[in-house]
Amino acid sequence: MAEDATSGRGDFDRTGGGAVLMDGNRLRDEIVARLAETIEAAGRPRVCLATVLVGEDRPSRIYVRNKQRKAAEAQMESRHVELPADAGQAGVEAAVAELADDPGVHGILVQLPLPDGLDADAVLNLLPPEKDVDGLTPRSMGNLVRGRSGHVPCTPLGVMRLLDRYGVETSGRRAVVIGRSTLVGLPQVLLLGRKGTDATVTLAHSRTADLAGLCRSADIVVAAAGMAGLVTADHVRPGAAVIDVGISRTAAGIVGDVDFESVQAVAGAVTPMPGGTGPMTIACLLENTLAAARMQGAL
Ligand code: NAD
Repeated sequence: MAEDATSGRGDFDRTGGGAVLMDGNRLRDEIVARLAETIEAAGRPRVCLATVLVGEDRPSRIYVRNKQRKAAEAQMESRHVELPADAGQAGVEAAVAELADDPGVHGILVQLPLPDGLDADAVLNLLPPEKDVDGLTPRSMGNLVRGRSGHVPCTPLGVMRLLDRYGVETSGRRAVVIGRSTLVGLPQVLLLGRKGTDATVTLAHSRTADLAGLCRSADIVVAAAGMAGLVTADHVRPGAAVIDVGISRTAAGIVGDVDFESVQAVAGAVTPMPGGTGPMTIACLLENTLAAARMQGAL
């Protein structure tokens, strides 16, 4: 294997092919336990995360339930607002505005996507920046672009936590992010490239020529395209770190953007799917909720 992504640091579990397994479930549990300890040590102040679910989307329902369960483990309170798919723009906005005005609610997560016909941007714009624990409003994004403090989108932040926990060097290294959404790809580029992290980042997307060749030039590949099995061993420089964000629901179950079997034989470090970036998204949502409670003087 060429120079290893994790520089041989740490005593980590490895795949059959020898890559470090970047275990998101394990790191999420560590983070949740740390959050619970922090809240305990502060005398158990109320820290409240509100979730808003509109419609009947089954995966969204499962995500929201997992978020509530982990919030409870972190000693946080959950408030849940559920609205029918036909609640209408005004109905959804009224529910979110009420939570925004409630001093007992520190963080608000509006589960996306909203049903067809609803304007998600108009709903998100109602969130005060300090309660925007998903980090997706224009103001939070603006803060990230400008290097100011504020909530950072949970999925790309979770990727950064994995790289850090598993000792993946970023400074001066080349990274390729596949996907340019405001939810994942764009903030991921900013986080990898910002001062202190200092990777040299290339943003790849559906019009990128020779994706495999580009990825092979990278020390870190973050795949967030939502295309099952897009990244194969052919895309991976020996020893590189490969992080799978994509989720595709297939007849064979949930599948990532990364062809795990072939990639783990070449990579220096790789995330499993499931059990990689998904749990980290929840961990970072709860981290952001604690930060939100601090911003609002709850502890
Ligand atoms: P999106 O559809 O908004 O963006 C996908 C991006 O991938 C686009 O920018 C597109 O240009 C790019 N793309 C598509 N096909 C490509 C190809 N063949 N080659 C190169 N680029 C390609 O999706 P999103 O909201 O950014 O989510 C991306 C994936 O991540 C989805 O599968 C989503 O379900 C998943 N996701 C996972 C988590 C998690 O916690 N693991 C969180 C959010 C989203």
